Amino acid sequence: MTHTPSATLILGARPYGEAPLDVLITDGRIAATGEAARVQAEQLSAEQPEGLSTLAGEGLIMLPGMVDLHTHLREPGREDAETVETGSRAAAKGGFTAVHAMANSSPVADSAGVVEQVHRLGRASGWTEVYPVGAVTVGLAGERLAELGAMAESSAQVRMFSDDGMCVHNPVLMRRALEYVKTVDGFIAQHAQEPMLTEGAQMNEGDVSAILGLPGWPAVAEESIIARDVLLAQHVGSRLHICHVSTAGSVEIIRWAKGRGIDVTAEVTPHHLLLTDELVRGYDPVYKVNPPLRTGADVDALRAGLADGTIDIIGTDHAPHPTQAKECEWSAAAMGMTGLETALPVVIKTMISTGLMDWRRFAEVTSIKPAQIYRHAHQGRPIETGEPANLILIDSESTQVVDPAGHASKGRNSPFRGMELPGSVRATFLHGHPVVLDGELNSPLTRSASGAPAREAAAREAGA
Ligand SMILES: [Zn+2]
Repeated sequence: MTHTPSATLILGARPYGEAPLDVLITDGRIAATGEAARVQAEQLSAEQPEGLSTLAGEGLIMLPGMVDLHTHLREPGREDAETVETGSRAAAKGGFTAVHAMANSSPVADSAGVVEQVHRLGRASGWTEVYPVGAVTVGLAGERLAELGAMAESSAQVRMFSDDGMCVHNPVLMRRALEYVKTVDGFIAQHAQEPMLTEGAQMNEGDVSAILGLPGWPAVAEESIIARDVLLAQHVGSRLHICHVSTAGSVEIIRWAKGRGIDVTAEVTPHHLLLTDELVRGYDPVYKVNPPLRTGADVDALRAGLADGTIDIIGTDHAPHPTQAKECEWSAAAMGMTGLETALPVVIKTMISTGLMDWRRFAEVTSIKPAQIYRHAHQGRPIETGEPANLILIDSESTQVVDPAGHASKGRNSPFRGMELPGSVRATFLHGHPVVLDGELNSPLTRSASGAPAREAAAREAGA
């Protein structure tokens, strides 16, 4: 009886914004809810008064911790932009209990060695769960398949493969990759961008690019790859995920594919739900991103697609850059925006405040569905007794003015800086441990080397 359970009783928070429910967390799980939570908490504190902390949750909304399938953590190789540690801190503060680190590091995560390194760094940091994404092709060069099997069988157990940043544009390679991931129960996440149609492209092709005289990035460059790949996924009978959908036409193609029963899922970024190419008129490179900011009509179609389930999830595409890579002339600037610490308020602003979705749907697109796509057993779970306590508490009534200087990410390239946004993360629980309290980083989760594997075959059997 030397083991001291770390227990928290959360009083009066409202799961999914519904009726208040007391929740007791012990040993990383939801031990009890309602009356039973208070009774068990009383017993616990009688036995070990220091073992229990109580958290006033009145007025706060409780949701499953958010899961991001699209995060750039930059390590190894670009630690000046971000590290697994700083990116994990940003994730925790933003309300994410799991992130998936894209493979375009240096070296590229195209081998068991690199994905195991990222996975180890994530476990050591303890602010969020970090799952490395494996590259589809060696060095993201689009020429030959990377060691997908070796990455799947490594200790990182990679199931998601993507050349994100680059498109797998060779259809034969894409077909082989889709065939291969079937054997490891994985999926391909495609960055849909036909390279020949976007050579030298600097912004969305349209009225604004014509006025500014910047080389345009046509919607068809994205849509043609999505159309091809949903047909390839159907032909092969494999799982395809579309990264950062940005055009109205893409939403239409995905809607058509789902209507035909094709196994495709799709994500949209918070920035594509809010910002348009009109912002490029000021030539501020903070608005330079891949895929580019599109038009107001595209924004409307993306919101509608997310609301009706055509688009499955939010993916941040958190892409931190060092200051000098963004504070330069437009044509020389790097593409990308930070997103982990602003995703929640931007999705509230664009989808909840507009009445397009409720908190249940919010939980689906930010947590439940991304966890299901990866087939995580410990993430995106119901707020019920016995479930892993990966949870967040948010204050939906507060507003904040975005100040990147206060972000935990190393990146300062937030396109939302200076904007007043609704909602904030007050607490993040990672396997029952409060990594964020009162809106600030608290302490990381420390785990034994034999800690529970984050992904279990049981989830597959349960169809989770
Ligand atoms: Zn991308």
